[in-house]
Amino acid sequence: MAIDLDFDLQINNLESKLLLEKNIHLSILRLDNIHPVVSGNKWFKLKENIKLAKSNGKNAILTFGGAFSNHLVATAAACAQLNLKSIGIVRGFHAENSENPSLNLCRKLGMQMVFVSREEYRLKAESCYLKDLKKRYPDAWLVPEGGNNQAGREGIKEIANYIPEHIDIIAVPVGTGTTLVGLRNTLPNQMFIYGYANFKNGNYLQKEIENYIHRDKDNWKLEYGFHFGGFAKHSPELLAFMHQFFQEFKIPLDFIYTGKMMFGLMKQIKNNEFPLGTRILAIHTGGLQGNEGISFRFP
Ligand SMILES: *Cc1c(COP(=O)(O)O)cnc(C)c1O
Repeated sequence: MAIDLDFDLQINNLESKLLLEKNIHLSILRLDNIHPVVSGNKWFKLKENIKLAKSNGKNAILTFGGAFSNHLVATAAACAQLNLKSIGIVRGFHAENSENPSLNLCRKLGMQMVFVSREEYRLKAESCYLKDLKKRYPDAWLVPEGGNNQAGREGIKEIANYIPEHIDIIAVPVGTGTTLVGLRNTLPNQMFIYGYANFKNGNYLQKEIENYIHRDKDNWKLEYGFHFGGFAKHSPELLAFMHQFFQEFKIPLDFIYTGKMMFGLMKQIKNNEFPLGTRILAIHTGGLQGNEGISFRFP
C-alpha cells in the first residue's frame, strides 16, 4: 500500500444535458485518486503534521475521531506506510461504536484504539487534557480531530497548485473548515469558494473559519442547506443522486461529504444561481471508505 508522493491529479470535465443547457463548465479535481485509503484532503492535512512529528523526534501520531472518521483511517494508513505508530482516541465506548468497517480498517492498519466516553471526548481540545495525554503518550505527536491545525492548513495550500487559473468558482465540502481555509488563503480572491456544511447547526463554524481567513480574502460562503438531517445522515434522495451521478459521470461520491456537496452544487446549477459560462471546479475530497459504513456500493 504505497503512498506515491508523485501522484498525478486528474481533473475530469463533466458533460451532461443540464450543464450544456445551463452553459456551466463543471470539472472535478480527483483527490479521491491519491491513494485507496489515505484519500483526499486528509493526506494534505496529515503531511505537514507528520513532518512535524518526525522533526520533533516522535515516533507516533495520536489523534481523535468519531466511529466513522475518515481522518482516523487516513492517519492509521499513513502511519503504517511511514513507519510511525498511530493512536486513535475514539468518541464513545458503547459496543455499537467499536465495530464497524472504518474502525476495523484502523485496527488492521495497526492503530491503537482508545475508546473514551462522549464526555471525555469533549475535552479533546482542552489544554489540561492534552497535557495529560502528552504525559501518557510521550512518544506521540498530537493532531487535533480532522487534522484541524496550522500544519493542516499549511498542507492544504498544496492543493491550490492543482487548480487551473481560469476557474471562477470552487466547491468544497466542509467538516472542520480546514480545507476551505487553506484554499481561501492561497487561491486568488477572484475565485469564489462555496463550502458545503454537512451537519446541522453549522452556523458556529462561520465565526471559527473567519478567524483563520486572511482579511483580504472575503470571497467565500458556507452553504447550510444540504446536510440531509445532519452529520453522516442520509436519505433515499441523496443515495439515488449518488447512483445517478455515478451512472452519468462514472465518478463515485461518498454520502458524508462529496455526495452532499455535489447534490447542493447541482441544485444551485438547476436553480440558475450561476451566470452563463461560469467555470466551476468541485474538489473531490475522497472519503469513499465511509460508504462501507452503510454498505453503499456502486454497481
Ligand atoms: C474530512 C473530510 C472533509 C472535511 O474537511 P475539513 O477540512 O475538515 O473541512 C471533506 N471531505 C471528506 C471526504 C473528508 O473526509
